[in-house]
Amino acid sequence: VLLCVPYSTLTSDTQVDVDDGKADLFDVNEGAGLDLFEGDILYDEREQKNSIIGDQYKWPKTVPYYLQDDLDVNAKGVILKAFEQYRLKSCIDFKPWSGEENYISVFKGSGCFSSVGNRRVGKQRLSIGSGCDRIATIEHEFLHALGFWHEQSRSDRDDYVTIMWDRISEGREHNFNKYNDSTSSSLNVPYDYTSMMHYSKNAFRNGTEPTIVTKIPAFADVIGQRMEFSDSDLLKLNRMYGCARSSTFLDTCDFERENICGMIQGPEDQADWERVSTVTGGPTTDYTNLGRCTGHGYFMHFSTVSATSGNKALLESRLLYPKRGYQCLQFFYYNSGHTSDQLSIWVREYDEANPNGTLRFIQTIDGPPQNLWQLHHVSLAVSKKFRVIFEGTKGSGSSAGGLSLDDINVSETMCPEHIWRVNNFLSVMETTPQGTAIYSPRFHSKYGYTFQMGLYPNGTIDYPGELGAFAHLTSGDNAVDASLEWPSAWKQITMMLMDQNTDIRKRMSNQRSITTDPTQVIAGSTNFYWDNPRKVGMEVTEADGTKYFRGPGLGTYVYLTQARARSRDFIKGGDAIFLLTMEDISHLVPSQPLPSTTTAKPNTSQPTTAKPETPKPETPKPTTTSKPSSPCDKVTCENDGVCVLDNGGVAVCRCKVGDDWWYTGDRCQFKGSTQDWIVTAVVASVCVLAVMLIVTITSVVCLKKKYKKRMQAAGDDIPYQHAAVALCLTRAPNRHWTRLKLMAASPEDDAVDRRPIRRVRSKSDTPYLAEARISLNLETGREQTAHVSDAT
Ligand SMILES: [Zn+2]
Repeated sequence: VLLCVPYSTLTSDTQVDVDDGKADLFDVNEGAGLDLFEGDILYDEREQKNSIIGDQYKWPKTVPYYLQDDLDVNAKGVILKAFEQYRLKSCIDFKPWSGEENYISVFKGSGCFSSVGNRRVGKQRLSIGSGCDRIATIEHEFLHALGFWHEQSRSDRDDYVTIMWDRISEGREHNFNKYNDSTSSSLNVPYDYTSMMHYSKNAFRNGTEPTIVTKIPAFADVIGQRMEFSDSDLLKLNRMYGCARSSTFLDTCDFERENICGMIQGPEDQADWERVSTVTGGPTTDYTNLGRCTGHGYFMHFSTVSATSGNKALLESRLLYPKRGYQCLQFFYYNSGHTSDQLSIWVREYDEANPNGTLRFIQTIDGPPQNLWQLHHVSLAVSKKFRVIFEGTKGSGSSAGGLSLDDINVSETMCPEHIWRVNNFLSVMETTPQGTAIYSPRFHSKYGYTFQMGLYPNGTIDYPGELGAFAHLTSGDNAVDASLEWPSAWKQITMMLMDQNTDIRKRMSNQRSITTDPTQVIAGSTNFYWDNPRKVGMEVTEADGTKYFRGPGLGTYVYLTQARARSRDFIKGGDAIFLLTMEDISHLVPSQPLPSTTTAKPNTSQPTTAKPETPKPETPKPTTTSKPSSPCDKVTCENDGVCVLDNGGVAVCRCKVGDDWWYTGDRCQFKGSTQDWIVTAVVASVCVLAVMLIVTITSVVCLKKKYKKRMQAAGDDIPYQHAAVALCLTRAPNRHWTRLKLMAASPEDDAVDRRPIRRVRSKSDTPYLAEARISLNLETGREQTAHVSDAT
């Protein structure tokens, strides 16, 4: 931690709070004088009888959007970041409006608000007003647009919270409506105090006492979080939209399971990585659990104690199928070996010309051994089927430990650029004087500008108990600074406190972004805010005597409460990790292009009233999108089921292969009791005929397959589908065994495809469960069914 003391001070205001202390979107709306239905929902009384559960309120999985000109440039940048979180954590995607009948038009109204669900009104408005340009606020409003009400309006909320009606501001009681479960479905997900759709305890209060009291007191300060989607928010979103996978997530591994997430040992190396929970030379615990759970806590280790110099150990990820062409590999690395021991990252890329893959070097992780798990990011640019390879190399020196890996994530997202690790963060929060900032090292952005983050770990006089976070430009190399454009234009600086959960999809990291507006001036001065820090900043001296200039800061005094900073995995092993990035977003300054296929110009007027537009009659119109519609478009298969067309072209759901799912009714339900691979449900009836001595068994096989297109899209060219059937068998009387033949039959032409694929023999007197695995050739790309034929 670098503590920097101001060397001289400017008389002008050098720190601007973009939030003006407003911690929540409801405070922003209150400040804007808005009195909307439930604080931020556009609502038409006439719609009341309609159930929001209905499919007609859903958007397609890819939502068309239009960012109106009046939006702040910073807001536009944060909206795109929010979309990226949706892509990482759900199957919801967003695309610029290209003439679709219904789309979401984001504009700068007075406050933050949205309608609930797809109202099918053509242009549906969603406001990201002043003070709403925070990622969680935007995610919250889009969750409304996607069909979600507030969490505390669930029909069962009175079991979990007590609404203190006498403490609610007069006239604001309507914000605490609740809905019966035909209007708002909880989608079989328990009440979620951690939902980003929950009000905070002080919402719409008339005094100082909370309006919402949680039945479990421990959740009093948990409700109202505005960091990220909670696990349940995502579960509900993914259930409502039938998400089987998210679009930019590729892989995660904490090595807690013995199958090490399908990773493999390299074929041509001399040593292996071992799955261990402690190493004498360090680390003594993994990173996932840090030794908190006995019997758990594994990581991968390549011991360099006795290996021969030059020996290599390769750990290869399972096959990954990229779509975007750029990826971020994230992992924790512990080097307890010798300085000469090395970790290198490679990728093995596969294509038709190289079915066994071609190795491509990415980078070597440098640095001497250190007594801690360190976070690393490696940017990849792969567009073919690939594996990530961790190559450990034993160096020339003697070692008492080795190289260790844990908590790996691969996603098709941009890597954060800079890491600021604050050691002993709990103690920093407690011992830093109130109103005192600590500063990150200066980071050199790829645009040449140097910047840093200022952090108030122990709040300020006006905002005690809150972390404050500010971004500053700083002076860098003299010659470089002289060559840069001043004031700096449209650089978005993002300050993220990382939730160090193993799985990148479950992280509820807290982030705020600010953007350098080249027209902004310092209050009471003619100087530009983002001018050269040598001109508008103050000189500071670091502990080691280094001097530099720090420009004015832009940020917030209500970045995150200290209580929340202590929650989840924001602090792990005592340390907090801030991820800092500077991105040029000047491309967001011009207007978003209008669709070429339509002459309709989006209405850019700014409604200031809560009254929504009159909805158009909800008669279904023929779709105008270019993609041909499929009966599956209207079908939602729950629990990762996939929609396929049956023989008659009717859409039906099929369960996921490879997990324990039963297929019943309209959903796949978790079976939970059988072994891996058992996918099938069995109904067996045994008839023993006295004369014929033949057992007749009928079996219903629930067999799911990915249809061929999907397989090709995933790059999977194996035309076989593996499944398992379970049968109830009894040996026929007076026989040593009874034999069954499993046949494959094509629904189109029984005669052609019918062939025995497996024989099963029974030797038991009493009915018992027999299992058989079968593989079906799916060359046709159509569904095939496995039948159990008469026994012979
Ligand atoms: Zn809301």
